[in-house]
This record gives sequence, structure tokens and C-alpha cells, in this order.
Amino acid sequence: MVTQIDLQIAQKRAVEYFQRAGIAISPSEAAGIEVADFGLGELWQTGIQMLTYLRSDRVCARELVLLPWQTCPEHAHASAEGRMGKEETIRCRWGTVYLYIPGRPSASPHARPPENRLQYYSAWHEIVLRPGDQFTLSPDTKHWFQSGAAGAVISEFSTPLENDLDRFTDPQILPVLHVSGN
Ligand code: ZN
Repeated sequence: MVTQIDLQIAQKRAVEYFQRAGIAISPSEAAGIEVADFGLGELWQTGIQMLTYLRSDRVCARELVLLPWQTCPEHAHASAEGRMGKEETIRCRWGTVYLYIPGRPSASPHARPPENRLQYYSAWHEIVLRPGDQFTLSPDTKHWFQSGAAGAVISEFSTPLENDLDRFTDPQILPVLHVSGN
């Protein structure tokens, strides 16, 4: 659960990042930035700030902010019961994003998952995204990402959000995102 004070701090910092990245958002959007701690209560280590501005039956578009070294924990968008999992493309707009997927583990990865959660990170093939770089994640592909020391702004384009199909590696994270917003 994100506390009210942490919600306000995280929203304010996210707005600053959008300004730095040159991404215009309206005042009402700024007030509605969602903050997720994935139910772990460790927002500044495991968490993300999100502004979803398009959500239809077919597509979803949103902007994400990761504060310095903040981690979006390992998960896959699972296919189930005839529904395909989410396909998502993440594009770095500002800062540096370290993205990890299954494959040959990187010898010296830049990111470090939160120490107390290290056992729940299994994908170690590193992809470094700098502004203008993007990567598309197919359904059912495990992935996690972390920003570098400066934080990061990311655009995400995907098929519809199906939160009930999100499968997190960490058993303490429930499938439904724990989001706080106004
Ligand atoms: Zn994802």
C-alpha cells in the first residue's frame, strides 16, 4: 500500500521527469499519475509511476517513470484460456533503462534487484535502452527493468491491459497491480 505522502512525492517527481523528457501532460493527467508498489510496501526500491492516456479494447499507451534505481519487478504477461498475453513495446525517452529477458546471462549486469528480493529475478540477459531505443516483449516472456542513477522516462505501447494475466516471479506480488492515484 502506497502511503498518501509517498503518493504525493512520487507524483511530483514523475511530473518533473516528464518535463525533463519534454513530454507534455495536462494538469488533470498530472494529478492522476498512478503509483504502484506492487503490494510490497517498498516503493522507492520496487515501484513505478504511470500515466495511462489511451486504453481501449485493442490498444494501450502510457508513459512510465522510474526513479533512480527503481525496479519494475520480474513478470510475464501470460496467455490463458484462449486469451493472448499482453505484447508490450517499451521505448526509452529519457535516462537509461536496463531491461532483462531470458537468454544468455550478461557477465556484468548494470542493474541490481533489491537485495531482499534477489531470488525472484531469473532473467539476466541485459538490454540497455537509451533515448530513442525500444524493445518489444512478446506475450509470456519474463522481463524486468530498472533505471540507472538518473532515473528514466519510458513510453509503453501495448495490447490491452489484462492485469489478471500478469504473472510475477515474486510470490508476494499478487497478479493485480497495487496502484494508488487520485
Ligand atoms: Zn510487462
